Amino acid sequence: MTKIFCIANQKGGVGKTTTTVNLAAALAKLGQRVLLVDLDPQGNATMGSGVDKHSLPSTVYHVLLGLKSIQSAIVKPPEVGYSLLAANRDLAGAEIELVDLERREYRLKEALAQVQTHYDYVLIDCPPSLSMLTLNGLCSAQGVIIPMQCEYFALEGLSDLVNTIRSLHANLNPDLEVICLLRVMFDMRITLQQQVSDQLKAHFGDKVFNSVIPRNVRLAEAPSYGLPGVIYDPSSRGANAYIEFAEELLTRNY
Ligand code: ADP
Ligand code: MG
Repeated sequence: MTKIFCIANQKGGVGKTTTTVNLAAALAKLGQRVLLVDLDPQGNATMGSGVDKHSLPSTVYHVLLGLKSIQSAIVKPPEVGYSLLAANRDLAGAEIELVDLERREYRLKEALAQVQTHYDYVLIDCPPSLSMLTLNGLCSAQGVIIPMQCEYFALEGLSDLVNTIRSLHANLNPDLEVICLLRVMFDMRITLQQQVSDQLKAHFGDKVFNSVIPRNVRLAEAPSYGLPGVIYDPSSRGANAYIEFAEELLTRNY
């Protein structure tokens, strides 16, 4: 059965997109069929997969509004190994346009239902908000992967997200659960990060994955080449960490 996961955290700059593109590329390297859905109007996952967000006839925006079929909007970027439902600034307007539509929280879910059997994993890169777009992502998914930096306010922000997921679970999507907290941009030498990491484990137990993504400049450079770090520099520490993370996900049978 296809696993559909959202990569979510309402904070910006915490590593959602980096995690989504690298997990997609890593799973693809491990032989999985992957669809990446870019749900952020910034289109960073789109550009980071080597697709020019400005030159797209159909994107996730058209699919959400029912203007184009999902089949016609999915592209296969040549180098990354996964398929992509792209996004660009058009998507910012969807927030308002969706309000008048029926079953507006389920537009993505219903579109994905038409293609998901072609994939082992669908990974949804969410925008930094708890908006109608993120809601569409969360209503489509069984699992939420939360990338986070182990900083002082990280736990505080987490409770809003966890509460939102609980209420969604109760009202709109009974399948939804947090499956993974992923520590990203981690630096072992920083005592505070160790402490926050310990607190995370105390709170969330084995939902905190063993794999840890270090701060690694190759991961940060990769998007400017239109590639996930896993492909841009496969021997880098960052790439290896994301491969390990993908393996852990597969081993846990998520
Ligand atoms: P989000 O999607 O949550 O806004 P991004 O994935 O775009 O976050 O990451 C924010 C910034 O941090 C980007 O410039 C990205 O290249 C950089 N970054 C993300 N993860 C790492 C990492 N492990 N090491 C170094 N830089 C990283
Ligand atoms: Mg992002």
